[in-house]
Order: sequence, then structure tokens, then C-alpha cells
Amino acid sequence: MNDYVSKLLDEVKAKNAGEPEFYQTVQEVAESLTLVFERHPAYREAKILERIIEPERVIMFRVPWQDDRGNVQVNRGFRIEMNSALGPYKGGLRFHPSVYLGILKFLAFEQVLKNSLTTLPMGGGKGGSDFDPKGKSDNEVMRFCQSFMNELFRHIGPNTDVPAGDIGVGGREIGFLFGQYKRLKNEFTGVLTGKGLNWGGSLIRPEATGYGAVYFAQEMLKTRSETLKDKIALVSGSGNVAQYTVEKLLDLGAKPVTLSDSNGFIYDQDGISREKLDFVMELKNIRRGRIKEYVDKFKTAKYTPTDTNLDHNPIWDIKAQCAFPSATQNEINAKDAANLLKNGVYVVCEGANMPSTLEATRLFLERKILYGPAKAANAGGVATSGLEMSQNSLRMNWTREEVDSKLHDIMVKIHKNCFETAALFGTPGNLVNGANIAGFLKVADAMMDQGLV
Ligand code: NAP
Repeated sequence: MNDYVSKLLDEVKAKNAGEPEFYQTVQEVAESLTLVFERHPAYREAKILERIIEPERVIMFRVPWQDDRGNVQVNRGFRIEMNSALGPYKGGLRFHPSVYLGILKFLAFEQVLKNSLTTLPMGGGKGGSDFDPKGKSDNEVMRFCQSFMNELFRHIGPNTDVPAGDIGVGGREIGFLFGQYKRLKNEFTGVLTGKGLNWGGSLIRPEATGYGAVYFAQEMLKTRSETLKDKIALVSGSGNVAQYTVEKLLDLGAKPVTLSDSNGFIYDQDGISREKLDFVMELKNIRRGRIKEYVDKFKTAKYTPTDTNLDHNPIWDIKAQCAFPSATQNEINAKDAANLLKNGVYVVCEGANMPSTLEATRLFLERKILYGPAKAANAGGVATSGLEMSQNSLRMNWTREEVDSKLHDIMVKIHKNCFETAALFGTPGNLVNGANIAGFLKVADAMMDQGLV
């Protein structure tokens, strides 16, 4: 690491104390960018990185709502408008009790570079609340979403800031948020993505992040003349990304064997078939149950509850060739990474955002496995959100095949761009450098063109 980057990182740490996730992502990106600053000092002189890590705007607000018993509840809402050099702010909303400023800044920063990689005209943002939708009735979720939008509506718009879903925000929540926006603005516009199909949504948007991650893995394997056929795959999470990762893995002949939620994971040695996936989708999306119920239905599978006293996560200690972490940040630590490698995993493709710690990432890079970092591998979700925005503007709907083929094309291009950029900067095969550098260069050049704003 050069002096400039290490001094910058010291300042980032001091200025953003108490935000370890934000510091972690800035560190990873800044280390990759060392290679850029050596060749292009102009970016350093224009303080592009210093500007990119400072949000253009942070909105933080009170979200009061009433629960079903008539009690008043108060949550905290956020929107981080991180960077608009390439287009309107774009990025999801997360509803989870762990949400605070540092988590959303990390996600917004990653989103800027990810959106740049998609080739579509989108800036980066992220938002959410420490509200926990788990265990809440539909009416409570609706009252919360309406109150959240009562403030958010004045900051967003189809040409300003276009939020979408993330953890805890799926079709139900987007519906309630959109309904309230429309009521307040008296306007029917594409202000949110992930909308219902009969009111402005795009086919393939629900599937896009998971499908995209699998397409990315396919591209990585192609560089070694391999395919996903018959590969055993570990998948974590059981939400939107995990479900459609499993679906596409099945389409391509792989054998997914695990799924999880925050309470534990299931291991199905026989493979999670289409029929079993249908059960999971019904369990998670309609009944809103726990993954444990999988083993009540499919007796050969085994359930392991989460043990927070362990220094590793046993889901990553199973023999396989591929891993698709699709739950949350830092779910793979150094020990988990070592376990994955020991058990034969040589494809790690990140559906979740920053699921690997810095130490785990370093281990994957050292061992030169096929490692697809989140901002490239899971960019299919936001790319398809971009396609939803285009369809809204055109007032047209593309077919399932059209959207899927555009998504596939985008994932192939993202992989190619990361792969070629990594080689161009002297680190062939290192897609972390490839993604960070390629994502950065496009935003940096736009910022240079647009002057000091
Ligand atoms: P989701 O539908 O809400 O599902 C999240 C899944 O992860 C659930 O199974 C959840 O279990 C589990 N999980 C969440 N927090 C956890 C924690 N702290 N510990 C253990 N498990 C946890 O969300 P999603 O949309 O699939 O998002 C999953 C990941 O993908 C996130 O990192 C998100 O940022 C990323 N991502 C999503 C999209 C998208 O389009 N949705 C796009 C790009 C990246 P519980 O039910 O027990 O909480």
C-alpha cells in the first residue's frame, strides 16, 4: 500500500469512527486503487476517492407508527445519496434491526461502483431502517412503510433517486411504499423498482440478483473451460437472492445442497430439487416461516441451529465445489474461508453484499480460486432495476426472454470488464481489483468532467 492510500485510510477511520463495515469496504477498494493512482496521479490530485467516500447527502429521519395493539413505535429511517456522477441515485432499502448509518454507508459506497459496472446510467445510494418486519402483521408493515414514505417522498423521484428492495424489503413492502408515494405526489412514476408486474414492474426483476450471480459463476468457470453441471453448491440465506440462485443452479445442472436463515441452516445431501425449492418459496414468501421447517417436510435433510459461540459457521464446512453466500455481510470469516478451501470449494460467487471479511477475501485471492466479488457478481439485481426504469420511461413491457437475455448479456460484460481490467493493471485473475478499478474509473472520469461539485 502506498503512503497516500495509507494516510487516507487513517483519516477515514478517524472520521468515521464506529462504522467498521464502511471502513472495511473503503479499505478493500483503496488497496485496489493503489494500482490506479500510480499510473494516473490526476485522480489523486483531484481528490476523487476522498470525494467518492463522502456521501453527497445523508437523510436521517424519525419513523413513528402504531402497532396492532395501539402502542406507539418509533424507528429511525435513512437514505444515503452517495454519488450521482453517472445518473440518479439508485440502490435498495434495507429493513433489519442491525441497520445503522455505517451499514448503509458501506452499502451505498459499494453500490456506486457496482452501478458503474452495470453499464447503465445509475448513480449510487442506499437506505432503510432499523425496523424488523419479522413477526409483524401485514397491517403493521403497511403502517410502517407509509410513515417511512411520509418523509422519504420529498427526497426521491424518477430522475433524482430511485430506491428498490434489499434485506427485509420485498414485493409486499415495495407495494406499500409505492402506494403512499403515489398518494402524496399524485403521480404514477417509476420512483421505485421491484414493483408488481401489473403496475409497472419488470419480469425477471425478482429473479435477477440470484440468476445474475449464477451467470457470473458460469463466466468465471468458462475461463477454465468448465461448467456448473454436476457441481455441488453451498448457498446461504433463504430470501430473494438465495431462492433464485438455487433455481438457476438447478437450470444449469448443478446440485445446491444448503440454505439458511439467521436461526440455522439445512443440509440436504440429496440436493434441493425444484419441488423442494417450491416448498421453500412458499414457506419464506407466503407463510413467512423458518428454514428449520424444511427438515420436517424432507426427512433426509439435516438442520443445524446457529451457535454464536462458534468461531466459524458450519454451513461453510461441507464438501462442495461452489459457494454462493447470499445472506448478509461478513458471513464468511478467515476460518470459514479456510474450511471452504479445505473441502474443495474453488468457486466463491457473492450474492450478498460484502459477505467475506477482508481476511477471507485475501485467502481466496492468495489461493487463486475463482472468486466473484459482490459488487460484480450480484450486480444483476440493480441492472434489472435499471431495465425496469427504462421500461417505465418507454411505457413498455419487455418479455421474460428479452429481460433475461439483457441480464445475461450484462453479466457477461461485467465479467469481461473485470477480467480484462485486472490483467491490464498487472493482477490477472484478481476480480476484486478488476471490479474495484473498472467501477472506479468510470465514476472518476465522470466526476472529472463535471467539475468540483
Ligand atoms: P431477504 O430476502 O430479506 O433474505 C435475507 C436472507 O438472509 C434471509 O434468509 C435472512 O434470514 C438471512 N439473513 C439476513 N441477515 C442475517 C444475519 N444477520 N445473519 C444470518 N442470516 C441473515 O434479502 P435478500 O434480498 O435476499 O438479500 C440478501 C443479500 O443479498 C444481502 O446482503 C443484500 O444486500 C444482497 N443483495 C440483494 C439484492 C436484491 O436484489 N434483493 C441485490 C444485491 C445484493 P432471516 O429471515 O433469519 O433474517
